[in-house]
Amino acid sequence: MCGIVGYIGKKNALPIIINGLKRLEYRGYDSAGVTILNNKNQLLTFKRAGKVADLEKNINKDIFSGDTGIGHTRWATHGEPSDINAHPHYSSDDSIILVHNGIIENYKFLKNNLIKENYKFATETDTEVLVNLIHFNYANTKNFEKAVQISLTAVEGTYGIACMCKYEPDKIIAARKGSPLLIGVGIEEILVASDPSAVLNYTKKVIYLEDGEMAVVTKSGYGLKTIEDIQVLREAEELDLLQGEIEKGGYDHFMLKEICEQSETIQNTYRGRINFDTGVAKLGGLENVLEKMLKARRFIITACGTAWHAGLVGEHMIEQYCRIPVEVEYASEFRYRRPIIYPDDIIIVISQSGETADTLAALREAKKHGATTIGIVNVIGSTIAREVEAGTYIHAGPEIGVASTKAFTSQLMSLVLITLMLAKEKNVKLQDSLLSLAEELKRLPGKIQKMVDKREEYKKVAEKFKDSKNFLYLGRGYNFPVALEGALKLKEISYIHAEGYPAAEMKHGPIALIDKNMPIVIIAPLDRTYDKIISNIEEVKARKGIVIALANDEDENIKNYADYILRVPKTLALFAPIINVIPLQFLSYYIAAIRGCDVDQPRNLAKSVTVE
Ligand code: GLU
Repeated sequence: MCGIVGYIGKKNALPIIINGLKRLEYRGYDSAGVTILNNKNQLLTFKRAGKVADLEKNINKDIFSGDTGIGHTRWATHGEPSDINAHPHYSSDDSIILVHNGIIENYKFLKNNLIKENYKFATETDTEVLVNLIHFNYANTKNFEKAVQISLTAVEGTYGIACMCKYEPDKIIAARKGSPLLIGVGIEEILVASDPSAVLNYTKKVIYLEDGEMAVVTKSGYGLKTIEDIQVLREAEELDLLQGEIEKGGYDHFMLKEICEQSETIQNTYRGRINFDTGVAKLGGLENVLEKMLKARRFIITACGTAWHAGLVGEHMIEQYCRIPVEVEYASEFRYRRPIIYPDDIIIVISQSGETADTLAALREAKKHGATTIGIVNVIGSTIAREVEAGTYIHAGPEIGVASTKAFTSQLMSLVLITLMLAKEKNVKLQDSLLSLAEELKRLPGKIQKMVDKREEYKKVAEKFKDSKNFLYLGRGYNFPVALEGALKLKEISYIHAEGYPAAEMKHGPIALIDKNMPIVIIAPLDRTYDKIISNIEEVKARKGIVIALANDEDENIKNYADYILRVPKTLALFAPIINVIPLQFLSYYIAAIRGCDVDQPRNLAKSVTVE
């Protein structure tokens, strides 16, 4: 959520910081700002509400010139997105400058104490409290590093920060607790960033800070220590990320690129993890907990948003194929309701970024109770990936579009692999043999590519519904979470109200909404629920609703019922969610694009939700 970039070196800092902020903008983008140290040793700040492009257009590049600086893109938590609330924030006397990701939870208490010391506040943010607190401690210690350390010790909540001080101007201090931060070590230059994509143009050598650590960066190098002042020694690691992976590559939007990449990304998820001759799946990252998984009392899957939908599909898969009881919980609810967790429970946390604050908190709660924790994560080296006992990376590559697409199908694929691995060990009698499942898995990328290639067909359906005000999405069994996901995608990027329901639940409420203006997307593959779904379609038609059926290529019968058809290839039940979600992603994408919405950066949303 939101981004931090800092630069210290020999080059002009402003273009490097702006470039980095553009890379991070997908994480939060309601305002942006920079502070540059000019050649007269003055710290100059420029910030405003709006996108990084506005900042770039309006900043005077001749004045904001210097080889050191920090910048920020904001996703407001305290105080509206406005020029004054944008970061960097400065202390009352302008001597300390700070950019901050996260939330200072005890900011009111700290603010009241500072007000008693005659501090004045110009903004509503929690961040301005921290910068003044550092100032207060600087006044007492006359040592910038100490002032930061003492201040952070007093802070409750989460932060990734970068800060500068007028009296020690050629130094950036960065620190983290609960919000990611790294330093990029280049040749005669060092960057500070909240995400590796911001430093990739300049260096591939990075050091991730751990919670409670800080980095003091100067032109001559960097030092790592804890905020308790204990020295930390850590080697830089090499980034395994290609520039092309974070660029649009000819597509209009990142989201479209990411939808179209899915035949490849799901292969990246299963590559090397399944033996196609036997159908046996093997996940190296889970080997050390396999015994515990087999003996577990139950699994609890916890996640937020799209990842929670993946968890719901996982529940179906693991219960059906492995006969292990599974519960699925919103991470934000789970941790706050004194959950009953047994030491022989397995807690699976799913998060694209590996930084989702609620999911991380749920993971920590589970660990407190001694349960075994497993992560399904995309971003390598992220906090969740590091804190779980075991885990599997989904290897979907950087996902930049705020609305998650390829991460979802790769999360599903990881759950398929876990299911296959456990089904083999549990020796459950399966409807489809492991081998036939593996054979179908091999066909999956081709089937996805076929849908990608005919996306214009989905676009034609989207064109008809660009002015709709509401949508219903219905599905049964495995496809109920897909209906939820389809509705979420539409809400997120097109701002059309949409609800997902189990198809049979429609008659218990939502049916009241149906009239001739209501489009209803019904997921109707040729599976064992087909006849029941057809009855649900009849119920919709009887009330004059508009039926958009998602149906298999070979289903001729559906033409008798549906007003519009989204065609998908037939597959086995285990893979149906991966196939069926793709036309729904296209439908949302095209509706939003036709409506002229900002698809990659929808209003109010942020990519990696690092606040609770
Ligand atoms: N809590 C801070 C604010 O509202 C930082 C938000 C962010 O992470 O961008 O300004």
